[in-house]
Amino acid sequence: MTVAAIRQRVLDHIDSRRELLLDVSHRIHANPELNFEEHFAHGLLTEVLEREGVDVERHAYDLPTAFDARVGSEGPTIAVLCEYDALPGIGHACGHNIIAAAGLGAGLALAPLADELGGRLAILGTPAEEGGGGKVFMIQRGAFDAIDASMMVHPAGAELRFMHTLAIHQLLVDYHGRAAHAAAGPWHGINALDAAVAGYTNVAALRPDERVHGIFTKSGDRPNIVPEHAQAHWFVRSPDVDKLQVLKDRVLSCLEAGAMAAGCEMSHQWLDPPYENMVDNEPLLDRYCEHARSLGRDPISPPAELAVAGSTDMGNVSQRVPAIHPIVQAAPRGVAIHTAAFAEHARAPIGDQAVIDGAKMLALTMLDIWLDEDLRRQVRAAHRPA
Ligand SMILES: [Zn+2]
Ligand SMILES: [Zn+2]
Repeated sequence: MTVAAIRQRVLDHIDSRRELLLDVSHRIHANPELNFEEHFAHGLLTEVLEREGVDVERHAYDLPTAFDARVGSEGPTIAVLCEYDALPGIGHACGHNIIAAAGLGAGLALAPLADELGGRLAILGTPAEEGGGGKVFMIQRGAFDAIDASMMVHPAGAELRFMHTLAIHQLLVDYHGRAAHAAAGPWHGINALDAAVAGYTNVAALRPDERVHGIFTKSGDRPNIVPEHAQAHWFVRSPDVDKLQVLKDRVLSCLEAGAMAAGCEMSHQWLDPPYENMVDNEPLLDRYCEHARSLGRDPISPPAELAVAGSTDMGNVSQRVPAIHPIVQAAPRGVAIHTAAFAEHARAPIGDQAVIDGAKMLALTMLDIWLDEDLRRQVRAAHRPA
């Protein structure tokens, strides 16, 4: 069979499952589930895999909503990742229903070819991308130990080679003061909110090229009681893990200075797992973009106004194995993810086309890894965690 004929088989397979894949996308969209609670999506995806003849381990890696389906007995192993968690209040505003259905479509198209072509495949269900770090736990528990390359697509309002990612560590800070009557004897109190506000102002005076954003999650009970307890939740983000370490120390100093100024005790807790920055594998991305162009899509290196910036646990995967995280257009240009408008597009015709094309672009790229030893060498050589 020629390469062209194999590619055509993969494309035909995905077209023949169009209804199935869109049904999966729409049903996950209609049942938004949060971090580690994605029982509906987990059940649906694993059931479809089995019905299509792919063995799957449910509740994999001690995570109730992760799964791991392996196909093939020898040769290079490619992982295709399915995310399926949603956001509080705005449902699938990050379009993870599209990620799940596209990953499923690519996996199902390659599965029947694995033994014939001498490749292996891992279809991984990775829960809790929106803050829970499902992939980080899966890395720690061995899911990526024997993976040669790993990929997924993420939807957005543009067609992009990559996403600008930042490494992130979340921080929870508690300030402890002493309550007192705010009118009768405020001098008897120690105001924990003053400490939190002073710390907040100190952080705001940092002017790094990084991103630090926080909110007060506790600020007191009543205006006439000097707050004895205040709490703030911070996201501390930096372009890479080394810079993040430096920034974390600076942020903590700012917050401690606030506590000291107000005479409060401060305690803090870094909320694990941290997300690392994404290192895109360029040779693999080149192939992905070639296949995208063959389907009439043209991923570009994002100009500032179209850049999708954020943090993802795919970054942690990319620090361990060669990986890509391209952006497939699933909404009109400029519609931002994490908005109600984006959630609408994620189940509309433009989102549906992203499912089908996303599956095809992934599958064709995965096929290249199996078939092209030269590419495998390039991919390995280009893998430089940073
Ligand atoms: Zn998101
Ligand atoms: Zn997302």
